[in-house]
Amino acid sequence: MPIYSCICDECVIKFEVVKPMIQSDKIAFCPRCNGKARRDYQTDLPNSGNKNYPKLFVSEALGIHPDEAAEHRKRYPNVEVLPEGQLGFHNVSDHKKHLEAINWQKKPAKNKRKSQKIS
Ligand SMILES: [Zn+2]
Repeated sequence: MPIYSCICDECVIKFEVVKPMIQSDKIAFCPRCNGKARRDYQTDLPNSGNKNYPKLFVSEALGIHPDEAAEHRKRYPNVEVLPEGQLGFHNVSDHKKHLEAINWQKKPAKNKRKSQKIS
């Protein structure tokens, strides 16, 4: 399922939700205040370059278990770990680097590699 960027109407933080495309324009709820959030089309635009996010970009989709927070901070010092395990990014570049580092796939790969049997 694709990831959509949302922005909270109440506390103006940005975050991501993972949901089916058919629900892409449905209202999401803020992970911090549970307020109504709308889709943030600007963040979803490709090639947005190395912009700083106006506020910490909170990703629930990439969240980790809070027990792993210390280890995560050691490994990815540019990524914030929030108390409930959501990850916070300060800019587009850190965000993209992190997605690459963990091999996150936003969309299914176009060219599927044939699976190889280990003999
Ligand atoms: Zn909020």
